[in-house]
Amino acid sequence: MSSEKTRAIVLRVIEFSETSCVVWLFTEDFGKVNALAKGARRPKSAFEGALDLLALIRIVFLRKSSDALDLLTEARLERRFRSAQRELSRLYAGYYVAELLAELTDAGDPHPPLFRAADEALVAIDEGEPLAETILRFELAALREAGHLPSLSQCVQCGREVTTTKGRIAFGMTAGGVLCPDCRPGRRQVISVSGLVIERLQRAAEDDHKEHVQIEPALRGELRAIMNNYFAHLVGHKLRIPDLLGGLSH
Ligand SMILES: [Zn+2]
Repeated sequence: MSSEKTRAIVLRVIEFSETSCVVWLFTEDFGKVNALAKGARRPKSAFEGALDLLALIRIVFLRKSSDALDLLTEARLERRFRSAQRELSRLYAGYYVAELLAELTDAGDPHPPLFRAADEALVAIDEGEPLAETILRFELAALREAGHLPSLSQCVQCGREVTTTKGRIAFGMTAGGVLCPDCRPGRRQVISVSGLVIERLQRAAEDDHKEHVQIEPALRGELRAIMNNYFAHLVGHKLRIPDLLGGLSH
């Protein structure tokens, strides 16, 4: 049993007994960790209010053998997620970040760049940054890190460049990207997407982090439909939060 230190984002807190909780964490160095926090529900616990949904915390935990829950021994709050008290759409955006982290990664599989992207997204949500763009940036970072970034410029089948300047473009959900007219026939799970939306996605995927690629309100509904659909295909079921993020489409 080894003692480990790292930073973590709190994904979920579940009451476990009268005095204890189980916390789902996404850690910087160890990926997802599910840990028992003994005494966390006591008024004066060793965790002092750090186990707050979407908080950034610094933890010490004991790793247990395969099946057992890890044991959280210390947690110190670095930053609280404050949007809960402000605006419902920002709270849901935070929940969505947590949902994607939980769905796209496996326990004990570290992804430090994804941790940093999630941390940045939560700060941006809290600081009132544009929500549609913040969410899209995080989604693309998560897809890149999970190795599922869709092919947006070249046909996913034959590699031919696909122009986005006019008309609509075929996007294969299971194929994982855009399809040229020659490769489209016979493919299942193909939707037709406006070239403008694909162009915004291309630019957002190349995002150099200096500024957001702006998603005009008229394009948001279609963009959300593609992203929600793509994630549903990827994880095998519809995600819970996107429906609540309806505000992003307006
Ligand atoms: Zn093709």
